[in-house]
Amino acid sequence: MEPPTVTYEGRLARARSRMGDLGIDALCLSVGPDLPYLIGYEATALDRLTMLVVPRDSEPVLVVPRLEAARVPDRPALFSVRPWDEIEDPIELVSNQARGASVVAIGDHTWARFVLALQGALPRARFVSASLVTAPLRVIKDEAEIAALSDAAHAVDAIASAIRERPFRGRSEREIHRELVELILDHGHERANFAIVASGPNAASPHHEPGERRVEEEDVVLCDFGGTMNAYCSDITRMFVVGQARSEVADAYEALAIAQEAAVRRATVGTPCEEVDRVARAALDDAGLGQYFIHRTGHGIGMEAHEDPYLVAGNETLLAPGHAFSVEPGVYLPDRFGLRLEDIVVASESGPRRLNIASRDLTEVD
Ligand code: ZN
Ligand code: ZN
Ligand code: ZN
Repeated sequence: MEPPTVTYEGRLARARSRMGDLGIDALCLSVGPDLPYLIGYEATALDRLTMLVVPRDSEPVLVVPRLEAARVPDRPALFSVRPWDEIEDPIELVSNQARGASVVAIGDHTWARFVLALQGALPRARFVSASLVTAPLRVIKDEAEIAALSDAAHAVDAIASAIRERPFRGRSEREIHRELVELILDHGHERANFAIVASGPNAASPHHEPGERRVEEEDVVLCDFGGTMNAYCSDITRMFVVGQARSEVADAYEALAIAQEAAVRRATVGTPCEEVDRVARAALDDAGLGQYFIHRTGHGIGMEAHEDPYLVAGNETLLAPGHAFSVEPGVYLPDRFGLRLEDIVVASESGPRRLNIASRDLTEVD
């Protein structure tokens, strides 16, 4: 469940050095991607608490329910394991490990009930967000992470190509959704995260929930799907049309493809995130479609489907080598149709690199 050549030691050392810079005494991580990023183990979301405590200068300890302990990889050089029995109080175990800390960084996904209990057990500690420590590390993908993202991207590319050969006409959105979920798993993902299928006027809602509507002649069908493969996410949007596209659809799609291409080309190292968004928006404005582009241009992707960096007005972060993100402009014409085109792109010194290579045509299907 992890990309090759990951050095958890290096990640933990960098996390510790940030803790030092920020004056954080203990880092406490439970469910969510920070924990697997640092030690290669993902906590199960349970009422029984799993929590890694990383004190700034002593050994990390993973407090884990006894019945989950067998799943924990043996990495004694990295962290020790403290399984807890049903009659023990994990909050007490965690707070003992963090005893004396004045500033505790707590994982962003930690359940509120555990955060509140820990705050009660450590009344003198100030709690801050663990993403202060982990986000700047996770946002720059190393080679192994880019390889994992690329593998996941190629898996959904293959699906996007395969469904071109499948009939759409007469099938319900939910049937196509179910087929996509199955394909995502068949193509090597351990998890299907989402599979939006929006047909005809339904595609005017960017996050439409697939329903019983059956695809008809001339419908435009938006398919946006992705999953998690070897701990890294895929996310792609491709557009299909049953029979021939009406000219207003074909024209809007052509403008969208131009906008997406322009935004991808602009995503060079040193460019502010918001500039990529501006370029996509300007291209759609030129085509008279700007008012229908109602969301940001993209989001970062990694162990989470949506993470830093966000391509949105106001984000002045400069793109750096190893930033991975979606470029997905869209236009949504209420009660008529919707279009989106999405690829995952990695910023690199040699220029923006698209991870998705599936045909970007408005695909005519049966
Ligand atoms: Zn979305
Ligand atoms: Zn998507
Ligand atoms: Zn996306």
